[in-house]
Amino acid sequence: MSLNKILSPYPHSRRRRRWLGMAAGTVVLGAWSARAVSREPLPVVATFSILGDMVKEIGGERVAVTTLVGSNADAHGFEPTPRDAKALRDARVLVLNGLDFEAWLPRLTQAAGFEGQRVLASEGVKVRYFSDAHEHDHDHDHEHDDGHGHAHAHGDVDPHAWQDLSNGMIYARNIAAGLTRADPRNASYYESRAAGYVARMKALDSEVRTALAAIPPENRRVISSHDAFGYFGAAYGIEFIPIMGVSSQAEPSARDVARVVERVRETQVGGVFIENMSSPALAQQIARESGAIMGGTLYSDALGPADEPASSYLGMFSWNAGRLVYVLKRSMQNQ
Ligand SMILES: [Zn+2]
Repeated sequence: MSLNKILSPYPHSRRRRRWLGMAAGTVVLGAWSARAVSREPLPVVATFSILGDMVKEIGGERVAVTTLVGSNADAHGFEPTPRDAKALRDARVLVLNGLDFEAWLPRLTQAAGFEGQRVLASEGVKVRYFSDAHEHDHDHDHEHDDGHGHAHAHGDVDPHAWQDLSNGMIYARNIAAGLTRADPRNASYYESRAAGYVARMKALDSEVRTALAAIPPENRRVISSHDAFGYFGAAYGIEFIPIMGVSSQAEPSARDVARVVERVRETQVGGVFIENMSSPALAQQIARESGAIMGGTLYSDALGPADEPASSYLGMFSWNAGRLVYVLKRSMQNQ
């Protein structure tokens, strides 16, 4: 290990090396560089937009976040570029979801030679598994691919844990602890920002529960594109029937679609939703043919761009819950 690496908590910062060089030989080196260090933002890479937002909320101006999979983009089928490898090489902290969400990450960290602090955001959540809770009419080998590189096998871990605000709180605490491990001088800063963030999550969680309380349990059934809302459904008592859980084909046959339409009619589905990173065509067709309400967009695996309400994790959660409550209420009035 080089001296620079030992002296500087930011071994990749050219500026820091220069400052250390300039200050070398003076008796005030320790105190002076400590003060300067706290002003240099900690370079952090987050694997996808939801984690990127969480890191910004907790790290504030003391972190410089690079997000690999951006807004409205699908992390399941992501293909990293040399630019991503460079960002990771320059980072001191990597925040990842885990739960097999970022299948492309091991190759990338290896290519980048990343040796910094890894923060597993989902550590400690109660893991859900893709189960046969939904009825499946198909009898192949339980493998879904919805056409955007998103294959779910039953019995596999469901990675979408952020779709439950209690898990969001666990993520926030893990991220604060990880930033603190990499940058202990700012520990109290990270901890107090995380505490405020968790308090906002708690407030939103009870808001969502209050809003949903107006809807009887038997009216809480909706169609979504891919199987991303298992945690949401379990936490807030909504049954999500994923289109991809009924038909396994990227482009289902007319018969598959007819089967879904029939199921929607029979089971009093409140609305059909699309997701921000998948194609709306099939959902629109099912809504049209079944007469169910087209519920609009839910954000599952990525935030919206900066000018949309769902451009933050809390904004996304509030948007999704608001859409669901609005559509389920409207569908009850139609019955
Ligand atoms: Zn997903």
